Amino acid sequence: MATLADPAFARQPHPAPVPGATRVEALRDPGFGKIFSDHMVVIDWSEAKGWHNATIGPRGPIALDPAAAVLHYAQEIFEGLKAYRTADGGTALFRPQANAARFNRSAARLAMPDLPEALFIGAIKELVATDREWFPPVDGGSLYLRPFMFASEAFLGVRPAREYKFVVIASPAGNYFKSGAPAVSIWVSSDYTRAAPGGTGAAKCGGNYAASLVPQAEAIARGHDQVVFLDAAEHRWIEELGGMNLFFVMADGSVITPPLGGTILPGITRDSLIDLMHDEGLTVREERYGIDQWRADAASGALVETFACGTAAVVTAVGKVAGHDGEFTIGAGTPGQLTQKLRSRLVAIQRGEAPDPHGWVVRLD
Ligand SMILES: *Cc1c(COP(=O)(O)O)cnc(C)c1O
Repeated sequence: MATLADPAFARQPHPAPVPGATRVEALRDPGFGKIFSDHMVVIDWSEAKGWHNATIGPRGPIALDPAAAVLHYAQEIFEGLKAYRTADGGTALFRPQANAARFNRSAARLAMPDLPEALFIGAIKELVATDREWFPPVDGGSLYLRPFMFASEAFLGVRPAREYKFVVIASPAGNYFKSGAPAVSIWVSSDYTRAAPGGTGAAKCGGNYAASLVPQAEAIARGHDQVVFLDAAEHRWIEELGGMNLFFVMADGSVITPPLGGTILPGITRDSLIDLMHDEGLTVREERYGIDQWRADAASGALVETFACGTAAVVTAVGKVAGHDGEFTIGAGTPGQLTQKLRSRLVAIQRGEAPDPHGWVVRLD
């Protein structure tokens, strides 16, 4: 199958980029996922040609046949990573190889073609270099990158499609949680689950998110920030939030996080924090933790902190937990010591303000 050995991107000039003054104004308070940079990368895949037509050009609508398979059977996967401005004025990515590898694991689960790492990372580098004026100058700001792949073949039969598009867009980001709240309140969903054994819970696919929207909206309607899902079989074991992994910090200094096993998304932030905790000499146990235990440990003081993590919001303290059985508070309901320490350690590494002992940061210039 033909592949692009050395990614060479055709450049389509932008006829009308956003005027500088408008861009500067938009970057003052970018929020999350609301504004977009000028360009995008598109690469096509077909059975006959493999990956071809790699282009970087103006960001804009994509023409699709109404029978495109993605619109009917949701054959779609995505990634999320950030480019950072470093302390010395350069730009850097955080563990993009890990995103490339996970993208291909998601692709395999959704019966989609493998994308060479060089193309995945090459596309991102191309876009960041082209849209480097789009980094927000705000504190905690970054350029959020959204690579995704979808089935573009026009065919209504049910089988893996024979044509795909890989696209990367960029969105300047400030802080993820609108409120900027120091600790979030979460709602335990007992009516819905996110992932079942044998399903797609470990794949980063749009379909998982579609299924989480009703429980997430329920959490918001009840006055909470996020929904937390329990396992599908026993409705007892804590899995993760709609888009973030969870950690539980015990008074004895040990830390628990739900084990990966097909129903949890293997977060790169999760993986990095486990390494940082090991660096601190902490014991991290990847084992199941039940909702009743969580409540009991929070009440007895055996549990002192809970935090959620993911690329978008980095590390976020969980202050309050509510469900059909009532609610409970974690610690003082404010971000705990380890939560704050891990957040600042990770952010400092990502921004090139602290040494990078694990070799996670990929400098772009
Ligand atoms: C992306 C995602 C995460 C976090 O993964 P990171 O690599 O840390 O950003 C956690 N859970 C779900 C469901 C996700 O989609």
